[in-house]
Amino acid sequence: MIVDVITIFPEMFSGPMSTSIVGSARERGLLELRLHDLRDHTSDRHRTTDDYPYGGGPGMVMKPEPLVDAIRAVRDLEPDEAPVAVLTPSGRTFDQEFARSLGSLDRLILVCGRYEGIDERVFAHADMTISIGDYVLTGGELPAMVVIDAVARLLPGVLGDEASSEDESFSEGLLEYPQYTRPAIYDGISVPDVLLSGNHAAIAAYRREEAIRKTARVRPDLIESARLTDDERRLACDARKEIDRD
Ligand code: SAM
Repeated sequence: MIVDVITIFPEMFSGPMSTSIVGSARERGLLELRLHDLRDHTSDRHRTTDDYPYGGGPGMVMKPEPLVDAIRAVRDLEPDEAPVAVLTPSGRTFDQEFARSLGSLDRLILVCGRYEGIDERVFAHADMTISIGDYVLTGGELPAMVVIDAVARLLPGVLGDEASSEDESFSEGLLEYPQYTRPAIYDGISVPDVLLSGNHAAIAAYRREEAIRKTARVRPDLIESARLTDDERRLACDARKEIDRD
């Protein structure tokens, strides 16, 4: 997959995007990350990307011309169409399902805002908007990296064990079951016996139940739409009742 990023701070990407799983995905050619400096698409001596907001108010707004020029130039780098996504707090909330849909693309163009945001006319050149949550960051670079990280680990071959992205939080509409590693007893707390039993069916059943209990306790909103049997739904209700009693 190719991800193109339009930003005024390409240098921000060097550490997080060169380390660990994302770095290795890039080295192995499973992910190609291309950073485009928005200032290369300005036409004045000062390479200006922002201007005062019409109507007044605090801060500066990103000018439309450099952004739209950059989007057109980056789009034209390849013959095939690539969707353009603008990072903005007013975008569609990013979640695991959204990450999966982006992971099925051959190419994605991400546009990072700065200052007080982006001139509204730029959005006419975007195919989608992405928000990584209901809070405001200083720029779109960290959100772009969040998106790239979440998408990269879903690309075929990126994670060592293919099963590991299928088994984790949100993949089945549930949070992940509790995980343990050695030692078997730590701080007086033992690992559940079933995990030491070697009985794979019992372990799978235990993990499923624990995932349902945990989701019901901490994210009851997810339980509503999770795919559960009638028995599992009762289990979720009981876990919820325990919380209400406490
Ligand atoms: N004034 C804008 C507003 O209230 O929506 C916030 C602008 S923010 C300071 C500057 C840039 O950071 C945005 O254009 C966007 O690219 C990025 N950004 C900030 N928070 C974000 C979030 N939660 N999700 C995605 N992008 C975000």
